[in-house]
Amino acid sequence: MKMQILDFTIEELEWLFPDLGMQAYRARQVLDWLYKGVTDFKDMKNLPADIQEKLDEEFEIYNPKIVREQVSKEDGTRKFLLEYSDGNAIETVFMKYKYGNSICVSSQAGCRMGCKFCASTLNGLSRDLTSGEILAQLLTVERAVKNSLASEKGEASSKEIDPKEWKINHIVVMGTGEPFDNYLNVMRFIQTVHDPRWLNISNRNITVSTCGVVSMLKLFAEDCPQVNLAISLHATTDDVRSSMMPINRMFPIEKIMEAAKEYTKKTKRRITFEYTMVNGVNDSDEDVKRLANLLKGMLCHVNLIPLNKVEGTGFDTVSRKRAEEFAEILEKAGIAATVRRELGADIDAACGQLRLKKNQNRH
Ligand code: SAH
Repeated sequence: MKMQILDFTIEELEWLFPDLGMQAYRARQVLDWLYKGVTDFKDMKNLPADIQEKLDEEFEIYNPKIVREQVSKEDGTRKFLLEYSDGNAIETVFMKYKYGNSICVSSQAGCRMGCKFCASTLNGLSRDLTSGEILAQLLTVERAVKNSLASEKGEASSKEIDPKEWKINHIVVMGTGEPFDNYLNVMRFIQTVHDPRWLNISNRNITVSTCGVVSMLKLFAEDCPQVNLAISLHATTDDVRSSMMPINRMFPIEKIMEAAKEYTKKTKRRITFEYTMVNGVNDSDEDVKRLANLLKGMLCHVNLIPLNKVEGTGFDTVSRKRAEEFAEILEKAGIAATVRRELGADIDAACGQLRLKKNQNRH
């Protein structure tokens, strides 16, 4: 079976290539091509034919198929449904911000965490994604955005497109899947994109979001203290949180707060607490008071997300006004809070819904 070249770090390839009869410096050349979005060794033009052939014999290059692409006319958000060669599909979202372009990647095909309001977990976990498969989301999206822009602008070649318009410099691991349930692959992905000889994306521009797998937090603080951490809190009492998120039975709110404080002590980094607001479940005046109490004195920021309604879950969303009231109350209590900017509202960018539709059609 061939090896997947995107699953390796530069060091590993430099170590491996001589064993395969190629000089170590070739690794860097190959990675430069992969980084440009090339998906066939034969297109790596500065490599001699015998090297191209050798690479082709030994390796494959992940090249997920774009099953769907939705483009927001309002803000340039692009949502992709990508399918790997085994038929597993995941979603990836490209977003434009003032400070650059950002991608939301999936870490698993499906999810086994079972959050009751989330579309990504409805059919359980299909499998983990490898680091190269996560990386391929980024490379595929960059290439697709570049090509789309070229054809929209009537350019003959995508080379004419300003990198500012397609180059990704921020990553959030907030797509389908629980990153701490696929820890090693996510770490390897971060290491690859961070490598200055590779994509050179600063760790401070990467955010990992967890539903609260507390047991991994210590390790995460040690492994990548510069990477941003987001914790999906979503409730202020254990009863409510357990009813929304089964993981809470294993790691209740108190354990999350303890671990969060440890994390901040160690890293001096601000944690983002995500709070998805659900009508009549976690949006009362008492909730916001409890939330302020829980987070008082912590180095943190609250990101309020009005629920994206998922059919069949029975959960309803709140008004933007209610979310803004929550933010205001938190701010008054000295806790930084924002309501998540709605990106791609016109393309149904709600978490995991494209993938869900595809999977439902299959059955
Ligand atoms: N498993 C990780 C990351 C993936 S989900 C986690 O739980 O953090 C990214 C964020 O979107 C999480 O805060 C998740 O709870 C939230 N989310 C999932 N489904 C949602 C929905 N339908 N509406 C609003 N937020 C949702």
